[in-house]
Amino acid sequence: MVLKNLHRLSKLFQPVSVVPKNAEVKRHDITSKSQRLMLELGIIKQASPGCFHFLPLGVKSLEKLTSLVDEEMKKIGGQKIIFPTLTNAKLWEKTGRLETVSSELFQIKDRHDQSYILSPTHEEAASNLLASLSPISYKQLPLKLYQITSKYRDEMKPRFGLMRGKQFLMKDMYSFDTDIKTAKHTYDEICKSYDKIFRKIGIDFIKVVGSSGHMGGELSHEYQYKADVGEDKILTCTKCNYSANTEISGEEKCPNCGNNSVEIHLGIEVGHTFLLGEKYSKPLNATFLSKNGKLEVLQMGSYGLGLSRIMAAAIEVMSSEQEIRWPDILSPFSVIILPPKSGSKEEIHIQNSGLVESLYEKIETICNLKDNVLIDDRTNFTIGRRLLEAKRNGYPFIVALGKKILENPFLYEITNLKTNETIFLSENDLLNYLRNHLSSSSCDPDNK
Ligand code: ATP
Ligand code: MG
Repeated sequence: MVLKNLHRLSKLFQPVSVVPKNAEVKRHDITSKSQRLMLELGIIKQASPGCFHFLPLGVKSLEKLTSLVDEEMKKIGGQKIIFPTLTNAKLWEKTGRLETVSSELFQIKDRHDQSYILSPTHEEAASNLLASLSPISYKQLPLKLYQITSKYRDEMKPRFGLMRGKQFLMKDMYSFDTDIKTAKHTYDEICKSYDKIFRKIGIDFIKVVGSSGHMGGELSHEYQYKADVGEDKILTCTKCNYSANTEISGEEKCPNCGNNSVEIHLGIEVGHTFLLGEKYSKPLNATFLSKNGKLEVLQMGSYGLGLSRIMAAAIEVMSSEQEIRWPDILSPFSVIILPPKSGSKEEIHIQNSGLVESLYEKIETICNLKDNVLIDDRTNFTIGRRLLEAKRNGYPFIVALGKKILENPFLYEITNLKTNETIFLSENDLLNYLRNHLSSSSCDPDNK
């Protein structure tokens, strides 16, 4: 028999543990539901406070988020680059941030006594890149550069697992324009693209007027998920629907219409956009060649999505205490297949039929789910036990080869975690069912 390269649970590196045995994590260090579930289910492991190993399931989910972001960036002409992790501290000195955010900076020196920081964000690096070129022409603007890389912050209180780490994955974009009006236009365009990314993830989000904080600039918005563990306070006006971070607006009345019927919610900041103007480009001398041949200062914007925080925050919002739930689009695998228990009537019945492998391949190809199907081949366990585990792991569709596999024609048992229904379907009906349900969850909400 040809050995096929299928995703098999027995081979998956998923070190599960009820109470994490890792000496680095104590019970009291577990401060959120998503952190506990992700540790217990072998999705991440803590390496030290605020630093995590991403295990295969965690990486798979992050990769899905990354490709969703890349896809949307392509649509608005975003170009992907990678800035060095180390930024020369002199650049941060020039913009004043070496002083204002020094307590959060990891600073290091090379053997020649040159100071660097492990970059927590790249406004300085981006400005310096543009400043170090022979000036680009106005014809090349707007320019939208982005990267998806680890960022480093010496957080006062790293906690809630991936939601506040010392090292985390951020997608950061930097836009460059000729004047503030076109920069605002670019800002609006990128915000719309971020709206779309959040709609595709599918969790309700609030876009609020944000505080510019240490970043500075003219205008800023935050994307927030409502959650009890949120560290931000969000004001929403029940009259005019205006929302803002209470850091900039207080908690008493709506800064937009003055009404005092406002609601306050806790929120997790999952994204943040800034219209920066010349805040970084001017001190770092990032310029372009204008229409009339003069050097002018570039107008910038900066746009951050906390990818590892989004993953954890989504789990935080969607899961129960016992069972993890993923947004469909971020689930590490979309379908898990449970073959019969070894030695059972059902197993003997399908022996040597190649049924499981052929079903796996059909789901992959017909339902467009390449690399998205997993077999729980630990057939020493009963189907019932594996079904419970599959539910706990939150795989959106569970296909079991139960008793009805003995019937003629035979039927599969499908559990849909979102609707919580279990139905019996023939192979053709199963493939149609999966195709319908998966395409409706991954289709572009803007095209509806
Ligand atoms: P916070 O107020 O939560 O500390 P911030 O305002 O400092 O965040 P930004 O500088 O705006 O964060 O960074 C962009 C995005 O990066 C944030 O919206 C968030 O999603 C993510 N992020 C920031 N700090 C962390 C962290 N320590 N761990 C994980 N994600 C983070
Ligand atoms: Mg922020």
